[in-house]
Formats: sequence, C-alpha cells, structure tokens
Amino acid sequence: LTSGLESAWNKLKGEEVLTKENIVEPMREIRRALLEADVSLPVVRRFVQAVSDQAVGVGVTRGVKPDQQLVKIVNDELVKLMGGEVSELVFAKSAPSVILLAGLQGVGKTTVCAKLAYYFKKQGKSSMLIAGDVYRPAAIDQLVILGDQVKVPVYTAGTDTKPSEIARQGLAEAKKKNIDVVIMDTAGRLQIDKGMMDELKEVKRVLNPTEVLLVVDAMTGQEAAALVTTFNLEIGITGAILTKLDGDSRGGAALSVKEVSGKPIKLVGRGERMEDLEPFYPDRMAGRILGMGDVLSFVEKAQEVMRQEDAEELQKKIMSAKFDFNDFLKQTRAVARMGSMTRVLGMIPGMGKVTPAQIREAEKSLKIMEAMIEAMTPEEKEQPELLAESVTRRKRIAQESGKTEQQVSQLVAQLFQMRVRMKNLMGVMEGGSIPALNN
Ligand code: GDP
Ligand code: MG
Repeated sequence: LTSGLESAWNKLKGEEVLTKENIVEPMREIRRALLEADVSLPVVRRFVQAVSDQAVGVGVTRGVKPDQQLVKIVNDELVKLMGGEVSELVFAKSAPSVILLAGLQGVGKTTVCAKLAYYFKKQGKSSMLIAGDVYRPAAIDQLVILGDQVKVPVYTAGTDTKPSEIARQGLAEAKKKNIDVVIMDTAGRLQIDKGMMDELKEVKRVLNPTEVLLVVDAMTGQEAAALVTTFNLEIGITGAILTKLDGDSRGGAALSVKEVSGKPIKLVGRGERMEDLEPFYPDRMAGRILGMGDVLSFVEKAQEVMRQEDAEELQKKIMSAKFDFNDFLKQTRAVARMGSMTRVLGMIPGMGKVTPAQIREAEKSLKIMEAMIEAMTPEEKEQPELLAESVTRRKRIAQESGKTEQQVSQLVAQLFQMRVRMKNLMGVMEGGSIPALNN
C-alpha cells in the first residue's frame, strides 16, 4: 500500500497546486494501491471521490508542496474511514463488565482472552476467564495455561457442559469473587454455520455482555469486514478486534471494517506475546499506512505558521514591490520556526536534512536581524529605499543595535534580493532591480 501511494505523490512532483487535471494520475495510483491492499471496491470508490473533492478545492499554503498537501488530505480521509476517534471499551456501571468473544477458528480468540486479562491487570482491574470452547479439550487447556501465565483465574466446567450453562456458572462465580471484568472464550468454526451462531446467541442471552467483540484475522483482508457485518446482523456485536497485524497483512481489513459493517475496531493484536494488544488508533494506523507521519505534521505546522490570509497579503505586497522590513521579519521568523520544527521531525522529503548546527546558525542570524530591524524607524521599515540611500541612517542603526555598519548594509541588500527572488518566483520579472547601496 505504501509503495503504491508513494508513486501517487511522485506524480505531483514539480506541480504548483492541486488541480482537477493533475490529480487524475495520483488518484488512479491511490485507487490501485487501496484495491491491492484488499479494500473493497465500494469503499475505494467513496474514498477516492472524497479525496478528489477536497484536493481540488484546497488552497495554497506557502511552503507546502502539492504532494504533501495530498498526503495530508489522504491521511485525514483514512482516519475518517477508520472511524476517526479511538473506540474505547465500555464498562458496566456495576461490576462485573462482561466481554464475549466470538470469531472463526484460529483467528486468535483464546490468545485475546489472556491478552485482555493482562491489559486490564495493567489498569488495575481484576478479571476472570471463562472457557467456553467445549469441543476440543485442548482448547480448555490452552486457556488455563494462558490464564496461569497472566495470573488470572480461569473458570472451566469440562467438555460435557453446554457453553451457555458454563457462561451462567462462570458469571455467578465472578460475581461472588467481585471480579471487575469477565471474559468469555468461545468455540470457533472454520466457517460461519448456524450451530455456532445459535450457540453464541444463547451465550449472549445468558451473559448480557457489555461488549461482544468479534475477533478477526487481519490476513483475511476484505473478508474481515464481511465477517464483522455478518456477525453483527446475526448476533449483534459492539466491535471488532483485529489480530495478526504484525504479519504481512495488506491493511485492507483495518480500512474496511468500520465503513462496511458500521462497527468499530476497538483493539488490535500485533503479536503472540501477552503485551501485544493495544487500542486501535485510526490516526496512527493511517500514519503507518502512509509511512509519512513527518510530512503530515509538517503540513499541519506549516498551515499554522503561515495562515492563508498572511500568504495572500504577502503575495499582494510582493506583486506591488512593497515587501518591506516588517514582512521580512515575519517571513524570516516563520522560516526559523519551520527550521526548529524540522529538527523535531527529522527529515522532510524534498527538503533535505537540516542539521542542528544549521538551525542554531539560522536562529543566531535571526536574532541579529531582529536587533537591527528593531532599531529602524517605522518609515525605514516600510521604505527600505531610505536605508539604501542614506549611509547616515545605516550608521545610526548599526550603533543602536550594536552591530557593524557592514551587517546593516548586508541586511538591506538581503531585503532587496529577497524582493527580486520572490518576484521571480511569482513569474513577475519587471521592476525588481537591486539598488546599489549609496554611500
Ligand atoms: P482461536 O482459535 O481463535 O482461539 O485462536 P488462538 O488464540 O488459539 O490463536 C491461533 C494462533 O494464532 C496461535 O498460534 C496464536 O499464537 C496466534 N496468534 C494470535 N494472535 C496473534 C497475533 O496478533 N499475531 C500473531 N503473529 N499470532 C497470533
Ligand atoms: Mg480458541
């Protein structure tokens, strides 16, 4: 998925803004990447439409390239697709809270039981496991061993008792022991069948659970979303747990579940160890898919630093050659802020690596510039020509700011150079000569 999206951004290299025309190719790449990641076609269609609509309407943020802008839009849509916020587990008002786990065979239900118990333990909640997979004695043993490992009690009643009866007994036992959370393991089948669904319905009726979570294997891709939908229609579930995200799953399951089934992924499993269970964070998942977390924060920061109004205002000034020392200062400060940001974020594609030494250097020269600009009168700030014309003024500024005359001259020259560079940047060539400093 990542490499497919990568080529989507690459198609925008060298473009100035996002347009209806130049996003056609990148959108095609995004579409292909999502389909390859096993996201279902209707979801892909809606997704691509939503991204295109936003991309074309988006304004320009200075310092942000269109490909970065598109990464940001795609990221935000991915987050939205996956449900936006974290879906927290719900707890009962009066203990015990009851979690019923369901799912096909081998998806990781029994493992999740113990992982959950361990997860709650870290939060200071006690839990108890109920062994409800009565079809294989080994399944009960497995849960007992895992329960031992995380040091939580496991309620078992052998293989001759009906799961719903085990559920009833287990729940009664948990109430007696003042357990905070009861977690019930159930039997899976290789495929959905009526026997399994009926059994789950029966257990659910007995337990009246706070959470009914379907455990699905991330490796099953689109199938995962279909399963969540089916189980929800059949028995009514509150969410899903996506396991085996550590494997080389293509991520499609994580993207489709919420959109297809209407039910959120609440937790994800990322390995076989007990600590490999965590809440499902749509934003982190999106970042992982895009593999470009740094670009995202960069775009956000740049948008903060340079508000659109500012950018337009500045553009007008440059067009009319009114770019003065006030703008110069604002601009330089913004760039400096972006500089210290790059230090935090590390590398930004296309910008090269900014070393801490370079940033310190930039901050130092900003301080020097600020001192000189502060020593200017308002007229001087607004009309840099005054300074180009008068060596007396430059001398005074040097004295007041404690800098050398040469430094002041340099600053003045820099401003005019910047005017020219910016005009060139905007494709307006005329009127931008650099005056020779008058002695
Ligand atoms: P159940 O049949 O649904 O109860 O599945 P199990 O809990 O017995 O798990 C089946 C296999 O998947 C076991 O070998 C687990 O160790 C493994 N497993 C479970 N969760 C994960 C996970 O998040 N990542 C990986 N790599 N393996 C897992
Ligand atoms: Mg099991």
